[in-house]
Formats: sequence, C-alpha cells, structure tokens
Amino acid sequence: MIHIDEEMVFNIIREKRPRVVAFNGPEALLGKISTLADRVSKEFGIDVYVIADPCYGSCDLNTGAAKRINADILFHVGHSISMQEFGNVVFIDAYDDIPFDSVLGKCISILEEKGVKSVAILTDSQHIHEVENARRILKDNGFNVVPTEGKGQLMDPQVFGCEFYPAFYARDGVDAFIFLGQSIFHAVGVALSTGRLTLMLDPYYDEVKEVNSMAEMLKRRAFLAIYKALDAQMIGLIVGLKEGQIMLNRVKDIKSRLETHGKSVRLIALTEVTEERLRVFNDIDAFIQVACPRISIDEQFSRPVLSVPQAYTLLKMLDKQNVDYDEFLILPHWL
Ligand code: SF4
Repeated sequence: MIHIDEEMVFNIIREKRPRVVAFNGPEALLGKISTLADRVSKEFGIDVYVIADPCYGSCDLNTGAAKRINADILFHVGHSISMQEFGNVVFIDAYDDIPFDSVLGKCISILEEKGVKSVAILTDSQHIHEVENARRILKDNGFNVVPTEGKGQLMDPQVFGCEFYPAFYARDGVDAFIFLGQSIFHAVGVALSTGRLTLMLDPYYDEVKEVNSMAEMLKRRAFLAIYKALDAQMIGLIVGLKEGQIMLNRVKDIKSRLETHGKSVRLIALTEVTEERLRVFNDIDAFIQVACPRISIDEQFSRPVLSVPQAYTLLKMLDKQNVDYDEFLILPHWL
C-alpha cells in the first residue's frame, strides 16, 4: 500500500502559512492526492487545487499551472528526488510498504543458478527504504553488493526512465542489476543503458522477471527507426515544452548538423508528443524529439520519431562514422 508523507505537508503549511496550495503527482496517485487535498482544505480553510494534468516525472512539475492559480506552494507527490525543495515546489514522498523478503528469496536462487557473484541494487523513489534490507539479505547469502552513487536529482540507488547514472557507473563491477519494484519501464531502462543482466523483483506477484529480452526488442526497434530516418529529406525537430525537458541548445546543435547534410528542418514546439499531434505535419518524413526519450523507445509511430541518442546515432551515420549497435543506448542519460 502506498503512503503519502502527509505529516510533512501539514507541518509545512503550519510553518509557511500559504493562502493557496496546489498538489500534483502521477496519475495512479491522484485519488489519494485528492483525499489529502480535501483534508488540507478542511483543516486550514485555504484554497487547495489538485492539478490533474498528466504528470510523468520530476521533469514535468507544471509549475506554470501552479503560478497561474496563484499557489504559494506546489506539493509534488510521488516523484521524490535528492532535493526536498526546488523554488516553491516541495517534493513529498509516497512510499510503498510492501516487503521484498519473499521475492528476494526467489531472486537469490536465480542468481545462484546463473553463477552471478556481484550485484547492484536499484529502484524508484517508492521503494528506496527497502534497499538497505535487500542489501543485507543479498550479502548474508554471499553476494558482493556493489554500492551505487546518485548524481544530480538521483539518489544513490535511484534511476529515472531516462537517467541512469548510478547504474551506468556501477556496470563494470557487476554481473547483474536487481531492480526493486513492479516497473518494467525502469528495469528495461537499466538493461538498455548498461547492457547488463537485469532482474526486476515484483513484490506484488512475488516474481522475478528478467527484462533483457524485452530490452533487446526495444533496442532493435529503436535502431530500425534510425535506419528508416536516414533518407528523410524533411525532418521535424521537436522541442518538448515540459519544463524539465526544454533543451534549446541541443535542438540548435542537431538542427545545424542536419542542415550540413542537406536536410530541411522544421522546428516544432509541443507539450505531448503523440501520433495524433504529429499527423498534421504530413509533409515531414521523420521526426526527432528533444523531449522524453521514452516516447521514442517505448511507443510506436507510423513515421520514425527519434529520441536524442537515436538522433546522434543518425548524425554519426550521416557523417559516415562507425556505429555500434550494442552501444548506442549505453549512456548515463538519454537527454
Ligand atoms: S524525460 Fe521521460 S523518462 Fe525522463 S524523467 Fe521525464 S518522464 Fe521520466
């Protein structure tokens, strides 16, 4: 069961005495967030908004919406990062109390069968508190548990869907990564960005999933999209408008390099990159989107829609440089 750190919300409101507050968070938590918003409104008699637009990560805080409704504080629930506050945003933990002991037992048998000696443990923000217990259990069973180190917004054992520093820099010392949590999305990202055996431990179904074959399928599809974009003459270069994704310098760099190869580039600014929104640009042969890389890796489109690492692989191909299929996604950050 997921628990939101409500005490922290109440303490901050008592201390800062805001007139208006807003809450947002991932879709799956909006029900619990709404209940909390009702309680805050009743307790303090202030205006409390639930910002219900989709919110996929800490790159997508929607502080613009909070500003437009005059919120003094935006409580962002469920995407905790290494900072607790950022401007008028306060990150509120939402942690899952489900234990991993049973699924770790199954994982240990699999690791032994595979002859794995060294592992590193990764997770998302909801299970960070379980890492220490998992480390102890694995050590007690004779495994070398390699420490991982956070960077930027990432805590030590944490990964995002596009940012993998703790995994990437530990990969040379480990035979396998153990991902705690029911998130194929994150576990596949670890497998793709490290090239290592990655096991996802799902405590709800009490099962261990090796995600490398799924990662391989996504990698093959991503590489094929690059090949399909090679002959594109008109390219739509999309800058994502979500506040944590805006990278205008990256856009400029890709644009000028494409133009040296004689490509025509149309700049597009977009908040949600979907097949439906792209349909209107029927004169474009391929897109490059400088927004969430997972849109290109995980979704399917009728025309190539490349993420940043795919775009740089395309540019290497256009430059007639060698490209290594096994390596093109092995990066600490895909944006
Ligand atoms: S860019 Fe995409 S993968 Fe990265 S944090 Fe944002 S939503 Fe997650």
